[in-house]
Amino acid sequence: QAEETKKYLDGDSFTKDGVKIEVELNIGSANAQEIDAIRHTNGVGLFRSEFLYLGRETLPTEEEQYKIYRRVLMQAGDAPVILRTLDIGGDKKLECLQLPKEENPFLGNRALRLCLERRDIFKTQLRAALRAGTVGNLWLMFPMVGSMDDIRKAKGVVREVQRDLDCEKIEYNREIKIGIMIEIPAIALIADLAAKEVDFASIGTNDLCQYTTAADRLNQNVAQYYQSYHPALFRLIRDTVRQFDRAGKPISVCGELGGDGLAMPVLLGFGMRRVSMGLSAVARAKRIISRLDLAQARDMADRVCQMETAGEVEAYLRDALKDIV
Ligand code: PEP
Ligand code: MG
Repeated sequence: QAEETKKYLDGDSFTKDGVKIEVELNIGSANAQEIDAIRHTNGVGLFRSEFLYLGRETLPTEEEQYKIYRRVLMQAGDAPVILRTLDIGGDKKLECLQLPKEENPFLGNRALRLCLERRDIFKTQLRAALRAGTVGNLWLMFPMVGSMDDIRKAKGVVREVQRDLDCEKIEYNREIKIGIMIEIPAIALIADLAAKEVDFASIGTNDLCQYTTAADRLNQNVAQYYQSYHPALFRLIRDTVRQFDRAGKPISVCGELGGDGLAMPVLLGFGMRRVSMGLSAVARAKRIISRLDLAQARDMADRVCQMETAGEVEAYLRDALKDIV
């Protein structure tokens, strides 16, 4: 079956009833293989930038980041590259940045929160990104957004960086889109408001699941409580997609569920038209999309949201999709 699946790697993806689905790539190191893989997709739906900061004793310079962002943007051409700003926290140790130990790192000073505190690090990254943006289609995305305040503060810093670059007469992309990750329930529940404040969003189902079920995604002792098929998570995603659709703003999924054979049809049933995933999931996802009818997907999505347990959802999806997945 693996050989058969490979045939689906290239080309645009359409459902059986002819609706185009953007299949995008998650990248996390910008190595040659990842950069080459962009051509199999409709762009980069999640460019994790943490690798730049890991395993080294000094922070990456603006120039270093600029070169790497530029390489990815050039490879993608006109297709969007969603660059996620630094998503680091107490749980991931950085040698180049001493962070105070926290009791609950996943609920602590991580990602955008840390960037808003360490404006120096944040601004260096934003300068590199905006400058590299001149060669491609840059979409900038903030992780761990929990409130409208977070969005406004982050946008404020982008504006400051733009003013600085203007003053220094340094060229940068003025057309970029600014968006957020939806991975904290508080922002998912006000998605209607958030959609007015941003150009796009992408749902980070890994963290959204963690924060919705209150189960640490890395703690094996509570793995049974981290339920990716929990009906609550599906309802939250459904409502978020609805609000962004209403606002006419693009919405995608870049967490594991985006490339999950059983969950992805449900996401399309909610109206999602963009999914992003690691390279290993791309061909299979495209094969599933080509065999899926959206009327069937909508019906499955409705049913899943009425179910009581994650176990029930999984059993149902396995059966309903047995000829497709
Ligand atoms: C997510 O939380 O779903 C996500 C895509 O981000 P990360 O896995 O890097 O936290
Ligand atoms: Mg996340």
